[in-house]
Amino acid sequence: AAARTPLMAGNWKMNLNHVEAVHLLQKLSWTLQDKKHDFERVEVAVLPPFTDIRSVQTLVDGDRMKIKYGAQDVSTQDAGAYTGEISASMLTKLGCSYVLTGHSERRQYHAEDDATVNAKTTKALAAGLVPIVCVGEGLEVRKAGEQVPHTLAQVDGALAGLKPDDVRKLVIAYEPVWAIGTGEVATPEDAQEVISAIRGRLEETISPSVADSVRILYGGSVKMASAGGIMAQPDVDGCLVGGASLQVDEFAGICRYLD
Ligand code: PEP
Repeated sequence: AAARTPLMAGNWKMNLNHVEAVHLLQKLSWTLQDKKHDFERVEVAVLPPFTDIRSVQTLVDGDRMKIKYGAQDVSTQDAGAYTGEISASMLTKLGCSYVLTGHSERRQYHAEDDATVNAKTTKALAAGLVPIVCVGEGLEVRKAGEQVPHTLAQVDGALAGLKPDDVRKLVIAYEPVWAIGTGEVATPEDAQEVISAIRGRLEETISPSVADSVRILYGGSVKMASAGGIMAQPDVDGCLVGGASLQVDEFAGICRYLD
């Protein structure tokens, strides 16, 4: 378990034009450099809107930043007549390391179901991207105490048909929908409960070694002040951060949770 490098990923959602994106990333890089951040010890990634990725690439390459980057969504298709879509190979070509699949906002506003999330995850892996597969229950499910079976069913659906060696490479983000953008962070114990159940499921359905390798993040209103407690849980391997990733000091503070 000690071999899982923690990952802090900032989901910028539909915020920041390419000029603002460069500005934020430069400030984040300076802040982390100032603290002599060890990127091998805690990995840092940002997930800008598609229109910012080329600019992010130029800055990351030009300044030899160790911050990684990726996208918030990817097409289920390889190429062709799919107006408005962006393929996985386009993202690889731009130097992306990661891509979110199945974010709750995609599931909710774009009716993405588990089969779609599975198709996107499969395409991402085939193009050499690391999918960050998002799962998690809404408030009604949480109130009914059904968060574990609900989330495990999403994991099963998202990973259906994937080879064990592919599953080993991906990242899962447990994001209870009631905690996203609401300021209501799950308790460290809430996060651990579901995340350890996800790891248990991977152990059962894939293998103990894959279950032990896969990084599972928590997401939902994470702030600098809450990151340490969440990261102290044995099965939590990082955070997927929305709102707070737009504030350099907050996000840098989350990346520096060990300080
Ligand atoms: C997210 O968008 O993945 C997220 C966790 O958002 P927030 O941190 O704003 O709740």
